Amino acid sequence: MILDLFSLKGKTAAVTGANTGLGQGIALALAEAGARTALVGRSPMDETLEKIKAAGGEAFPVKADLADVSVCQGIVDQTVAKYGGLDILVNNAGIIRRADSIEFTEKDWDDVLNVNLKSLFFLSQAAAKLFLKQGRGGKIINIASLLSYQGGIRVPSYTSSKSGVIGLTRLLANEWARHGICVNGIAPGYMVTNNTEALRRDPVRHQAILERIPAGRWGLPSDLGGTAVFLASPASDYLHGFTIAVDGGWLGR
Ligand code: NAD
Repeated sequence: MILDLFSLKGKTAAVTGANTGLGQGIALALAEAGARTALVGRSPMDETLEKIKAAGGEAFPVKADLADVSVCQGIVDQTVAKYGGLDILVNNAGIIRRADSIEFTEKDWDDVLNVNLKSLFFLSQAAAKLFLKQGRGGKIINIASLLSYQGGIRVPSYTSSKSGVIGLTRLLANEWARHGICVNGIAPGYMVTNNTEALRRDPVRHQAILERIPAGRWGLPSDLGGTAVFLASPASDYLHGFTIAVDGGWLGR
């Protein structure tokens, strides 16, 4: 049955930055589709755990600060210790720093690149080593951005990191597709989360962005659920190295 292709029953997922925002929306969607889910991050996962439990799903928290790349192997190990394996990794955790490029600091550069790109790579590497050992393929979903395609303004380290994410998604797919490991991305549009709070508080930027979105509204964490389940499921087994924009039509305009 075609709908069975979208089921995640019997699969194990790990989602970084799952306590809030897009990571919470994705974790909930994967759990609703049947995946047991490790909720990875530096903050308490209580709200996400409650939502997943209320939906009849199964999840557990993994405490990890992805500013430090040395946590990556432990995230995979803890998930395996709890659930016996791993099939799906969603690299969602990300931060943003806003300042004019002329005065942008090295710290704001390094902090963003470390979480958004360096840890994403080494966590993917740790997951892929396990996928190879398990011998049943795997799914890696990287959360990119519209700034993987566009320049943006006043966010030089963020744009660099997210442009890197889309390139790395292609590279990892090229190396790992032959092992049944699908590496793909989602580029969210302008979504209502902490990440965009500063933009939404600025009435001029908020209105300008809204007017440019063909769908006529900002996106919500739940808007990513279907695409995340698709990319995590057997329905996308021949899809490699591609990043899907879920942006209310922004990039087409
Ligand atoms: P958010 O700020 O609500 O969530 C970011 C998540 O990353 C949080 O769970 C946070 O705890 C986690 N995180 C940050 N630093 C971490 C660290 N050092 N260790 C572990 N976890 C850490 O924002 P969001 O919008 O939900 O962002 C999720 C992802 O989506 C990010 O990669 C972001 O760049 C991307 N994104 C967001 C938008 C948007 O419009 N909101 C658009 C495009 C891409």
